[in-house]
Amino acid sequence: MNKNSSNIMALAPNTSNKRETVCIFGTGDFGRALGYKMIQSGYPVVFGSRSKQASSLIPKDAEVLSHAEAAQKSAIIIIAIQRQHYNFLTSLAEVLHGKVLVDISNNLKINQYPESNAEYLAQLVPGAKVVKAFNTVSAWALQSGTLDASRQVFVCGDDMEAKQMVMDIVRALGLTPVDQGSLLAAQEIENYPLQLFPMWKFPILLSLGLVTFFFFYCLTRDVIYTYIYENKDFSFFIAISIPNRICPILALILLSLVYLPGVLAAIIQLYRGTKYRRFPDWLDKWMLCRKQLGLVALAFASLHAVYTLVIPIRSFVRWRSNNQIISQALNNKTEPLNTTNAWISDSYLALGILGFFFFVLLGITSLPSVSNSVNWREFRFVQSKLGYLTLILCTAHTMVYGGKWFLSPSSYRWYLPSAYMLALIIPCIVLVVKFVLVFPCLDKPLTRIRQGWERNPPYSEQSNYIINKSAV
Ligand code: NAP
Repeated sequence: MNKNSSNIMALAPNTSNKRETVCIFGTGDFGRALGYKMIQSGYPVVFGSRSKQASSLIPKDAEVLSHAEAAQKSAIIIIAIQRQHYNFLTSLAEVLHGKVLVDISNNLKINQYPESNAEYLAQLVPGAKVVKAFNTVSAWALQSGTLDASRQVFVCGDDMEAKQMVMDIVRALGLTPVDQGSLLAAQEIENYPLQLFPMWKFPILLSLGLVTFFFFYCLTRDVIYTYIYENKDFSFFIAISIPNRICPILALILLSLVYLPGVLAAIIQLYRGTKYRRFPDWLDKWMLCRKQLGLVALAFASLHAVYTLVIPIRSFVRWRSNNQIISQALNNKTEPLNTTNAWISDSYLALGILGFFFFVLLGITSLPSVSNSVNWREFRFVQSKLGYLTLILCTAHTMVYGGKWFLSPSSYRWYLPSAYMLALIIPCIVLVVKFVLVFPCLDKPLTRIRQGWERNPPYSEQSNYIINKSAV
């Protein structure tokens, strides 16, 4: 029997209950963790190592041999070694011929090398069938069993049979294989564990920028201005008053920024008369992080709700209301109930409560466990219709907050309007444009465009007619 036929036999599917031996090169953290997990799942494990001396850290049911000896015992070899040490594998090319080599390696930087580690391995050992897998699972998670967050194992490779064998092992370990296609996908898979909250970067940086801007804006208007012109020290506003002004502003602006890209996309599609041309990159990226923008907005709205709850126990608020009561008692005069003010205040609170309720509902439906249990139409209904309702309620809540002073020039300080007025600019633009887009003269063509209709198709019926006529 030649070497190839022995490899083919080794690759044949195992129909008996006994599992195939798996070889792991490298007795480091990951090799050992994977070895433990494999033994628990019933796989005989043999380690290929530079030293045959078994350390106490190595699973006791596993054998430790030289690389060449270990490789001969299995059809699948998991390379639990850093990429920079792969060179020695070329000397084992003969024994590795026809074997399935599983590359599990990661890099320190995104796109660190021109080719992926798996492709590099395939170049070093051209006779082997290289499969990329396991790199998104950590040694700690494997050993501690806390795999809830990383149950998915992305698998790619050019040899279907080899990939299937690896996916069978992944399943046997209680993990979920996700087939990512050919080995060309390896670079992308290697970049996954290096990404640091990619979708959160823009919302977080934007929020930090807006928080800084509005903090200094409110500080200038409410603390510095009052100190200079009224000689009052309101610096304690920094603790609660200013944050409680910034949080609702941020919540409203970020919520409107969730809906602004959709409105811009609609305008672009109407202008171009087609949906088949790509949106600019910035718009694509913006649309992809709408969920994160919405969740950050919800976080600010929740903070606003908490800050609002403590208002009655604030020393400043109690001092102010006591003063009003005492001055009424001293003047022996009570103020009659102003029903207009009562209406404004109650409407403001009611809109805030309803807005917050729908905000929370939006947040809950964006959770994967909830969004997976609703169909696409239900999800769109909640995220779009209820989303706009939330935006309307929160915008109205902010407008009513201004009450009688809304847009009044007397509320300006150093020509600066109140911060909440600035917060209304983007939501109002979004709502007005959305309202205009709902008109049938715009909504109908937009719906047709989204169903695939094109104003100037590249191969129009007329040009087809001309082509057909000339052919006749
Ligand atoms: P490690 O603890 O440093 O172990 C690497 C092993 O490689 C060593 O124990 C050694 O095993 C072997 N080795 C070292 N230098 C070598 C050389 N010059 N020639 C041949 N073999 C050599 O690293 P690790 O954390 O286990 O990571 C191993 C691979 O798994 C890496 O590619 C890493 O990116 C990937 N990975 C790790 C994790 C994790 O959580 N640790 C998660 C996903 C992927 P022997 O002494 O037995 O020869």
